[in-house]
This record gives sequence, C-alpha cells and structure tokens, in this order.
Amino acid sequence: MKKADIGLIGLGVMGANLALNIAEKGFRVAVFNRTLARTQEFVAEAGPLASNIVACETLEALAGAIERPRPVILMVPAGRAVDEQIAALRPLLDRDDIIIDAGNANFRDTRRRMETLMGDGPRFLGIGVSGGEEGARHGPSIMIGGAQDAYRTVEPILNAIAARYGDEACAAWLGPDGAGHFVKTIHNGIEYADMQMIAEVYGVLRDGHGLAAGDIAPIFAKWNEGRLNSYLIEITAEVLAARDTSTGKPLVDVILDSAGQKGTGRWSAIEAQTLGIPATAIEAAVAARSLSAIKHEREIGEARFGVPAPAADPVDEQRLAILEQALLAGKVVAYAQGFAVMAGASREFGWNLPLGTIARIWRAGCIIRSQFLGEIAAAYDAAPETEDLLLTPAFAALMETTHPHLREVVAQSARAGIAVPALSSALAHFDTFRRARGTANLIQAQRDYFGAHGFERIDRAGTHHGEWVRDV
Ligand code: NAP
Repeated sequence: MKKADIGLIGLGVMGANLALNIAEKGFRVAVFNRTLARTQEFVAEAGPLASNIVACETLEALAGAIERPRPVILMVPAGRAVDEQIAALRPLLDRDDIIIDAGNANFRDTRRRMETLMGDGPRFLGIGVSGGEEGARHGPSIMIGGAQDAYRTVEPILNAIAARYGDEACAAWLGPDGAGHFVKTIHNGIEYADMQMIAEVYGVLRDGHGLAAGDIAPIFAKWNEGRLNSYLIEITAEVLAARDTSTGKPLVDVILDSAGQKGTGRWSAIEAQTLGIPATAIEAAVAARSLSAIKHEREIGEARFGVPAPAADPVDEQRLAILEQALLAGKVVAYAQGFAVMAGASREFGWNLPLGTIARIWRAGCIIRSQFLGEIAAAYDAAPETEDLLLTPAFAALMETTHPHLREVVAQSARAGIAVPALSSALAHFDTFRRARGTANLIQAQRDYFGAHGFERIDRAGTHHGEWVRDV
C-alpha cells in the first residue's frame, strides 16, 4: 500500500478537521489518537476521504506508515501532552523526520523543544494554526516557525491546506525557532483586543442607549459592509440576531457574562511586558476577561454602588457613525501595538519577522481576517522599516480623522459609567504617543529623590542628581 505523505496525532476538534483537509487535498495522512475508539469513529465518518486516511492503532504503526522523511503533526493540548508525544515519538523517528507542533504552544516551550532536539533530531517545527474548526477543515491561516529545510519538506502540504486570499496561500515560513508560535500568540492577543472593543461598543449600545440585541445586530451587519468589514464584525451581527430555542429570547441575553481564556491572550500581554513594548489595548482586553470571571464580586459591587440607568439618548445615524469611527480608531491602535510587539520580538530574537507577510497571511482563514489586514500589508510593503504602524501615511491619516470620535465615545462612556477599557487604553496610547514631552521627567525626579537613581537632562549629557531639599 502507498505510504502516507504525513502523520497526524490527536483527532480532537482541530486535528480531525485538519486531517480531513489534508486528505481532501489529495495527500495521504496517517492518523493516531490516544483513545482508539475516536480513531475508528473518525475514519467511519470520513466518507470518501477515508481512502486517503491510514488509521493507526499505535505510534509504531504510525511511524511505519509514513514516507521518509516522515512529517508528523501534533494536534494535542499545549504543554505536557506535547512533551509526552515528543518523548514517545523520538525513539521511533529518525534525525531527518519532522515533528510539527500545530497546537497553541507557548513559543518559549517551542524554543526549548527545538534546542533539545537539535543534533540528534528529529527536526521540529512550531506552527500556529488559526481559524478554529471551520478553518482547520477548509483552510486555516498557518504561521510557520523553525528550520527552513524542514519547512521546505512540508511546504506543499501546508500551502495546499491553507486558506486562500485570491491566488495566495495564507501560509508562510516566518522565521526560525519559536517565530511561528510567537506570531500565533500575538494574533490571539490582537483577537482579544478586537473582540473586547466590539463587546465594549455593544455595551455602549445596550447599556448606554438601551438597545436590544435584535436592534444592535443590523448595526454591526451594516458596519460589516464598510471599513470595519471583518469576520469578527460579521459573526457579531449573526450572534446578536440569534434566538434561544428554549426561551425565545435573544441567545446573547441568556449567556453568562463570564468569558474564559486559555493562555495565548495572557502570553501576549506577558511577552509585551517582557519586551518593554506597550500593548495596553491587548492588556486591557486580557484584564477584562479576568474581570468578567469575577461575577460574584461584580454582583456585590452593583448592589453596593449601583449602575447608572441607560440614558434615553436616541441613537441616530450620526451617533452610530461616531461609534463606527471610534471602533476603527481603537482597532488601529490595537493592531499597531500587536505589530510593534512582533517587531520587538523580531529584534530581540533575531528572527527578521516579515510583518507585511504576516498581515497578508491573516487576510483569510484566521479569526481576525479582514480587509483591514490588506491595508496593513500595503503599509508595510510601502515602508518595511517603519517603526510604528501609526506613523505610516495611511494609518496616520486614518487616525487623524477617527481619533476625535474615539475621544467622544470614551468621554461619554466615562460620564455614563460604562466601562470601555480597551477603547480608552487605545485612546490613552494615542494621546501619549503624540505628545513629545510627556510626564516621565517627574518620574525621573521622584526616583532620584527617593532612590538616588539619577536622571538625564534635556540640555546636557550624562547622569545627574538633584540637590533635593528633604523635609525631615
Ligand atoms: P481537543 O478537541 O480537546 O482535542 C485534543 C486532542 O488531543 C484529542 O485527540 C485528545 O485525545 C488528544 N490528547 C489530549 N491529551 C493528550 C495527551 N496527554 N496525550 C496524547 N493525546 C492527547 O483540542 P483542540 O481544540 O483540537 O486543540 C488542539 C490544539 O489546537 C490545542 O493546542 C489548541 O490550543 C489548538 N487550537 C485550537 C483551536 C480551536 O478553535 N479549538 C484553534 C487553534 C488552535 P483523546 O481523544 O484521547 O482525548
């Protein structure tokens, strides 16, 4: 029997769909799952694609079923499961074979694994796969990191299964070691900020203007036809229009207001902090999820402090246009921050990350896919060395027209007692960014006063100390 082109371990939501996608593109895929019954169920449900699937009951059988050099995708939960699978596969694979971790790994784990496998092998790739279940099945965005020679071996398969934007595959090798998983992490961090800002605008319309979910749905649907056009805005309109079959109420109204998180958003914020790159909109979105989780405390808070009643402000077309522009401005800042974090990591780890390519492979397949990413790609193409997306001509012009609307929404929300943490962080970032003389002169002075840390002067080089007169 013809050997498989690739192996895949872990037939959960992502693995099963990725395996079907691979089989559909004409490649033979050998599959293994820890729980054997799942493998059997998977093959039974694969229909005609089963002819391209080799079901394996053991890892030994999997290793024996693949053409050399043998690429094996791991689609298991990030963390220990990945280390266990690598340890189990290592004695079964050769130096030239390739283990591909396609889960949401922490890029620091990916770096460690690559270092461990360096020399004796097998080779190792860390790839980020975005697009959820649908993307895995019909075309995800794929962010690849690791040795380029290993990538070349699997490039035809990854290109074939990736989403397409026009003729272009949304898959690219982005750099060595943990580059792929780092970029996927920041993708998810940006996704957090994008989702949070959308939720904040929903909050303004619901709590500030008293609109029902069914009234808000067409607003997002309309925005999806404009500059905000994106998968997240599109699904927001659909989600808000959905009804709960058991109560007949809007489904969002019966869903608990506590959102979970698995790690990538938090890792984005941690890595931004570690690199010293401000990513305040992403951090605010991560913190907002944590605040959402303390439901009990928030209930006590409401009982103690109360919440302002929805204003009877009418929502006219002008108000909606302001909200749309505010969301756009917030989004620009969040993306600028995410890309700045990637630029910082690229410098720190010597990855030479292609920022324009990253924007390009996010245009389709992934959760943050949008036309807007095409604009980011064009901005980086025009100015590859740019320090900050906010300084590129296209985005500077966009901020110029939209920031007054962001300011208006943040100010009104503050007065109405409606929390818009990601939008207000974005505004604060913009206002700090555009003021050449900030307030850290005072911070420097305070540090010198209490800790003799010294300060720099604007008129002379070197480190100086103040002759502080302390009141003792
Ligand atoms: P899932 O549906 O929970 O499936 C997990 C799979 O891993 C199952 O096949 C499971 O096998 C196997 N597994 C679990 N623990 C294992 C272990 N210790 N050893 C060997 N196999 C083990 O998970 P998923 O949603 O497909 O996610 C897989 C990876 O993709 C994760 O890293 C996730 O973060 C990432 N990811 C998920 C999404 C998404 O939208 N779901 C999107 C992008 C990336 P059993 O059948 O034996 O339990």
